[in-house]
Amino acid sequence: MCLVSGQVPFIDFSQQYQTIKDEIDVGLKNVFQKGNFILGQEEKDFEQHFAAYCESTYAIGVNSGTDALYLALCALGVKAGDEVILPSHTFIASALGISYLGAKPVLVDIEEQTYNLDPQKLRAAITDKTKAIIAVHLYGQAANMDEINAIAKERGIKVIEDAAQAHGARYKDQRIGSLGDVACFSFYPTKSLGGFGDGGMIVTKDQAVYDKVMMLRDYGRKGRYAHVIKGVNSRLDTLQAVILDAKLEYLDEWNRMRAEKGAYYNELLTGIPGLITPVTVSDRTHVFQTYAIRVKNRDRVLDQMQARGIGVLIHYPIPVHLQEAYADLGYARGDFPVSERLGDEELSLPMFPHITGEQVDTVCLTLKEIVSVAA
Ligand SMILES: *Cc1c(COP(=O)(O)O)cnc(C)c1O
Repeated sequence: MCLVSGQVPFIDFSQQYQTIKDEIDVGLKNVFQKGNFILGQEEKDFEQHFAAYCESTYAIGVNSGTDALYLALCALGVKAGDEVILPSHTFIASALGISYLGAKPVLVDIEEQTYNLDPQKLRAAITDKTKAIIAVHLYGQAANMDEINAIAKERGIKVIEDAAQAHGARYKDQRIGSLGDVACFSFYPTKSLGGFGDGGMIVTKDQAVYDKVMMLRDYGRKGRYAHVIKGVNSRLDTLQAVILDAKLEYLDEWNRMRAEKGAYYNELLTGIPGLITPVTVSDRTHVFQTYAIRVKNRDRVLDQMQARGIGVLIHYPIPVHLQEAYADLGYARGDFPVSERLGDEELSLPMFPHITGEQVDTVCLTLKEIVSVAA
């Protein structure tokens, strides 16, 4: 997958595909012949492998990461009028599931260092209506889960991990996906474990949540004909499961390659005036789903990088509280200053497991030239 053509693409998964091509070809043909496209044995196998990978108990395949969040909230009993807390700097999908249920997203600013939910600011956002907290592990590094879990436990609130950007990352030697009550993953093609289409997964150790989501994703069904709740249709295709299962075996290796390139970027870019490199907290690993820097005059730097053939993107220019879709929440500019600063300054550099050292050199040389002029 090549998102931006040019000297250095933002993402290029062609070498990744070569590694798993034979296995995928055989696996897909097998499914074509068997015709078990919906909830086939291969899908169940992948759920088991993914639950084990996350060092958790249950995994349930669904349509997307967005649906995973929606169904997890639903299974935890979140309903109209409830409040759910999440960070203001995240992909909008983190908030959408809350809205589908008629509940209210309550936003909290992020930490200056990790760009994740700031536990210091979390306590003040909790009310009697708060039912859950969504902790997003943004860019590939876990949120401060010990502090978030401690505050949640004190108040009897559930914790959902939005793990869509951090498959395989560790927090104090535990895998993300096993750190809250429920974890939600996305297999959107550009994620570090990505399918050849949409997909998602809910991971939990809680059997009641597992039982509920198993029904919810399949028309609220228990058995073939009995429908005990009003469910939806949100399942992971057997074909996607075959692809994802083949990729899962390489995920740790590919994450290691990302981390290596992240460290190389840091080495080349640290100490440049006007440029802030990502920080990895000592008690966790960073899997660099995104290599996010901060830079002054970001929009000018972005345009010039693109003009010189370097694939760069912004994650994300508009924080959730300033999105038109969420104008009804009544937030204004100035409410979440750290998120707003990220929105103005963040720049995502090319990152994928097989990016070469020479490609990173090219990106950094180009960036240094542009920044020294733009400053
Ligand atoms: C990608 C993403 C989602 C949504 O996943 P989809 O599979 O695209 O629906 C949710 N949260 C975060 C943080 C994401 O990056």
